[in-house]
Amino acid sequence: MYDIIVVGGGPAGMTAALYGLRGGKSVLVIEKDSFGGQITHSPRVENYPALASVSGNEYAEKLMDQILAQGAEIEIDRVTGIEPFQAPDGGYGSEAAGKVKGRNTCWLVSTEEGGAFEGRSVILATGVKHRMLGLPGEEDLIGEGISFCAVCDADFYAGQNVCVVGGGDAALQEAILLSEKCGEVTVIHRRPYFTGEQKLQDILFSRPNVQFIMGAKIDSLLLREDGGFRGVHLAAASEEGQDPGDLLCDGLFVAIGHIPENKPFKELADLDQAGYFASGENCRTRTPGLFVAGDCRQKKVRQLTTAVADGAVAALAACDYLNGI
Ligand code: NAP
Repeated sequence: MYDIIVVGGGPAGMTAALYGLRGGKSVLVIEKDSFGGQITHSPRVENYPALASVSGNEYAEKLMDQILAQGAEIEIDRVTGIEPFQAPDGGYGSEAAGKVKGRNTCWLVSTEEGGAFEGRSVILATGVKHRMLGLPGEEDLIGEGISFCAVCDADFYAGQNVCVVGGGDAALQEAILLSEKCGEVTVIHRRPYFTGEQKLQDILFSRPNVQFIMGAKIDSLLLREDGGFRGVHLAAASEEGQDPGDLLCDGLFVAIGHIPENKPFKELADLDQAGYFASGENCRTRTPGLFVAGDCRQKKVRQLTTAVADGAVAALAACDYLNGI
């Protein structure tokens, strides 16, 4: 029986583990894919206080080393269910003396590969997944012309022409990285202006091999006769605009934001209309002993700084709960 089971090994989940361990609790972190989450897609993080520049991968590795050194246990598996069960003396058994009374509800966390882990509290730090364009054929082309990660895939397109769709921080960062390795980079955005950081915009505007198609949306994918990716067809995003038409390219990087994957947990924690956990800054849910942290939670600013802040808040709330405060 763990004191805290953290679901999700991104910056929020790993920071929750760190604070839980520092609070003297035993912690298991279960991550479905790879530790680090979305930040591992960032080639350079330059807005994290006191770290002038660090790659997302390096940041994630350091955080991982830190929690392992503090005694975190980890599992790679997808959590499929969280069920409450009653345990006498909160599962402390004969060690119960001096432990908190009245916290008898514990949690059975089950995983895709048949794992079953018991915890006295759970922190959901499930993050988000990539939003897709929703176009016919898109799923089949992932990894075969369509990518969500320039850090991972830019080398496959070295010297070739690529497009990036999106106008936030992620799209700008992807385009900057691609402009260092690819031939022509075309950024396609449906608004007439970008919403990502001004500093990133300035860098991108200074790159000679980057062009911009603003006020346009991709309305279909162009395929070769053998079914391979050939480019995109663009339409005006508003009625006043002109349709730019076909744009041939070797690869398309989709950076149009993220969506939460919280539905499996909706019986335990309220979701807002967009599917994010409807919890406030205290990271608590309507279920005692269950907390949420990071991008999976309803919030305005989704940054590395706010994710790690949530991890700390959720873990300290879990420690209070376990200590009967
Ligand atoms: P985002 O800020 O939500 O931007 C998503 C972009 O995709 C927007 O330009 C949006 O356009 C566009 N978009 C959404 N749906 C679309 C669709 N169906 N078709 C075409 N375009 C679509 O997402 P993000 O860039 O992934 O960033 C997510 C969060 O992570 C943000 O808070 C960001 O600041 C943060 N982040 C931070 C860093 C960093 O710290 N350096 C790096 C990456 C990301 P509209 O504006 O028209 O909706």
